[in-house]
Amino acid sequence: GEKRPTNLNALAEEYLRLTYQGLRAKDNTFNAKLTTSFDPSIGRIDGIPQELGRVLLNLFNNAFYAVAQKQQLTDETYQPEVTVTTQRANNWVTLQVRDNGSGISPAVIEKIFQPFFTTKPTGQGTGLGLSLSYDIITKGHGGELMVNSTEGEYAEFIIRLPVSLAAE
Ligand code: ADP
Ligand code: MG
Repeated sequence: GEKRPTNLNALAEEYLRLTYQGLRAKDNTFNAKLTTSFDPSIGRIDGIPQELGRVLLNLFNNAFYAVAQKQQLTDETYQPEVTVTTQRANNWVTLQVRDNGSGISPAVIEKIFQPFFTTKPTGQGTGLGLSLSYDIITKGHGGELMVNSTEGEYAEFIIRLPVSLAAE
């Protein structure tokens, strides 16, 4: 793929639908509240849409997996929720994916970007998603991929990418 000026709002919207509908097709009892807050002024970033799509796919699937798992562990008062937010600050665009699943312990956070690290049962995770995503964002696009979590409450992944100079 080649880099081209890409709007992250459109890409995120597309992949969010894709992942959610894919999961619903396999399990029609799965129900998460999706909230998006897209800043219309983010402009464009120089990106390879297919690669950024792989990153979004993985972050969204991880988030849905986390809330689905928590739903199984808790009672019917639990409301699974995944929120995707974009913002622009100076010459950076940020995209945040937040879920109210079980979160990630500090010991696990240390390892999540390592290739093949997974806490999922065999067949449900390769452990490659976040290490690949990290490389695509940092090496491939000059950006950053960060994580915040409070165990038992939420996990949040944040992508930061430089705004395209060509697109301004
Ligand atoms: P995989 O999804 O195949 O396990 P990833 O590299 O995508 O591999 O993620 C690695 C691990 O990071 C997961 O197995 C899980 O332990 C943790 N993780 C990633 N995203 C989340 C999330 N949203 N909530 C809780 N844990 C997560
Ligand atoms: Mg994954």
